[in-house]
Amino acid sequence: MERRQITITGVVQGVGFRPFLQRLATSHGLSGWTQNGPDGVWVEIQGPPEAIAAFLHELPAAAPPQAAIAGIIVTPQPVEPPGVDGFVILPSRTSGPIQPVIPADLALCDDCAAEITDPGGRRFRYPFTNCTQCGPRYTIIASLPYDRPRTSMADFPLCPACEQEYGDTGDRRYHAQPIACPACGPHLWITGPDGRPTAEGEAALTAAVAALQAGEILALKGLGGFQLLVDARDDAAVTRLRARKRRPAKPFAVMVPSLAALAPLADIDAAAAAWLTAVSAPIVLLPRHPGGVADSVAPDNPYLGVMLPYAPLHRLLLDAFGAPVVCTSGNLSEEPLCTDNADALVRLGPIADRFLLHDRPIVRPVDDSVLRPDEASPVLLRRARGFAPLPIPLGRHLVSTVALGGHLKNTVGLSLGNQAILSQHLGDLGTLAAATLQRRTVEDLVALYAAKPERLACDQHPDYASTRLAETLAEVWELPLHRLQHHHAHVAAVMAEHGLDGPVLGLAWDGSGHGPDGTVWGGEALLCEGTAYRRVSHLRPFPLAGGEAAMRDPRRAALGLLFAAGGTTACQAAADWFPPQTRQTLTAAMASGGPFPVTSSMGRLFDAVAALLGFGACRSFEGEAAMALEFACRDGQAAPYPLPISPTEPAVADWGPLLTALQADMARGEPRDYLASRFHETLAAYALAVARLVGCGDVVLAGGCFQNRRLTTRIGAMLAEAGFRVYRAQRVPPNDGGLALGQLWLAGQAGEA
Ligand code: ZN
Ligand code: ZN
Ligand code: FE
Repeated sequence: MERRQITITGVVQGVGFRPFLQRLATSHGLSGWTQNGPDGVWVEIQGPPEAIAAFLHELPAAAPPQAAIAGIIVTPQPVEPPGVDGFVILPSRTSGPIQPVIPADLALCDDCAAEITDPGGRRFRYPFTNCTQCGPRYTIIASLPYDRPRTSMADFPLCPACEQEYGDTGDRRYHAQPIACPACGPHLWITGPDGRPTAEGEAALTAAVAALQAGEILALKGLGGFQLLVDARDDAAVTRLRARKRRPAKPFAVMVPSLAALAPLADIDAAAAAWLTAVSAPIVLLPRHPGGVADSVAPDNPYLGVMLPYAPLHRLLLDAFGAPVVCTSGNLSEEPLCTDNADALVRLGPIADRFLLHDRPIVRPVDDSVLRPDEASPVLLRRARGFAPLPIPLGRHLVSTVALGGHLKNTVGLSLGNQAILSQHLGDLGTLAAATLQRRTVEDLVALYAAKPERLACDQHPDYASTRLAETLAEVWELPLHRLQHHHAHVAAVMAEHGLDGPVLGLAWDGSGHGPDGTVWGGEALLCEGTAYRRVSHLRPFPLAGGEAAMRDPRRAALGLLFAAGGTTACQAAADWFPPQTRQTLTAAMASGGPFPVTSSMGRLFDAVAALLGFGACRSFEGEAAMALEFACRDGQAAPYPLPISPTEPAVADWGPLLTALQADMARGEPRDYLASRFHETLAAYALAVARLVGCGDVVLAGGCFQNRRLTTRIGAMLAEAGFRVYRAQRVPPNDGGLALGQLWLAGQAGEA
């Protein structure tokens, strides 16, 4: 006989791990116990050495599919007298250091999906069915370790039948914390905006389907927050949703009943199907087929964001409705997601006609994730449900740091040893509600993981709400604050993911970020090594006509570009875009050396060129015009425009000749798709030229511009062909949603070497 103590870390709680250990130990005739500890799952096993060896050998491969084992530490123990209990599951331990073991929410599993359609079962059509392999996790866990009393299921005591399943080692609900049934679990009802219930349970579902059929807007309390649903085939209904949500053009995602129902709507390959049916079940951007859903779902967009029903409530609703529905976040444009019934009735009251509600509280808002499965590697555009808060392995130990991220698409981060925890996407911080949510999320993460942060990190921009929060927390917690340059942090996020120390050439092509020289950066090439960087190349700066307003108006970016190129005369090209008085005021201000910031932003160059090509009216969300320019490209390659770079560092890329050639093309009446293609090719050629000039073998592509598939694919291919190693964001978004990771990486290592 021998005895071993085993500590298993990683995502091992809330995924059926202890029942699995019990089955495995029993199958090898081992005795002992397991329990959830604050740093993972603890095990002690006792038996013949061969049986112990077999147990340890089989453990990693046989573990539940949703588990992600980070480490297994085996320590010999003195043999104990044989007990009578075999292998048992002990109550959880609550003291000691807490390591990240919080699972993300899991999409409905096949077993539970079958169960809710089985008329003979006791969970027939029960919308809150779940098991060890599926169901809510991060959205219901209030504190660790993960056990029912510390979740939002605490107020639903198990009925005898559920209790029996929970205690039965042979049942797939053995020790599944959020389980429920119609007798003991949450229930469903439907109301109008007045909040008075008109139907419950099955009748509420029927009423919800009828509402969708009638073209009404349905607010549904989902897994991580409210969602707004409307028949995706009904143009009038979709248009009404756009008007009420104040979201004129930004694409909506649709939820479709099944993969089969999706086939007519979009191209699905194996990679896309795998993501759609993954436990993370994100919104997947797919090449769209004409028809199937109203054009107003995603106007002028060659992609369609689609997802499959991921909670039993969605499954029941979509099966009954039998057609795609728009499924978008339940919020007013730019505000955080609603999670609470009363709050939703107030805030979504002016938007939704019906509210499908339930009484399982949502502990924290978690939006749907968005992913595009590109050839090289999938690009996460929004990291939330199904991904957060899964740890991002770093390959090195960082000083415990809290990072506050940027201003748009905000996420916050926490480093714990050699892992980074990134919060779910919180959105833009332009509203008080969003800033409040950000603070709550920081405090939530620190408390959840019982972290003892030693440093704070934020952006260098003095006016970001995230910077102000960092300053406040630095005072309250008495911690040093590290202010990181925006684009340096973008590059560092990719370095963190790939464990790169540098030197790397970081192409940080982005919307905008605070530059230490007082200009607005965003078209930068930064040579990064360790925690330092040097600006080796950038776009020739141009003024942002009207300052902040130019961030949201591509025509103002174009006006600034024209002015920088040829003064007031060149601005004649913008004659049709503004009332004469506005244009004169703006050009006069620029002529007098005006008050407007200058920028080297690639995002603004995209905007300016898009406006020149006639996409300037696209301005309802950031990147809209740039997206239009990407989508306008024709297949195949086109010759680049000239974009000469100066010989001395930093090498300035002069867009002047580009502009001249582009305008000449326009004057010749060349088609727009040709010009758009040439522009993209120009930037790819510039990327290669900078890489050759700097001569660094590792190139990082970072920043919001690398959400552009054509640009990213072309640059990746050209650099790889020329012998460079190219690194991109994979586990976090390339946009500002990944900034916090880069900030953690830089601040957590600063001053160490
Ligand atoms: Zn299940
Ligand atoms: Zn029950
Ligand atoms: Fe950025």
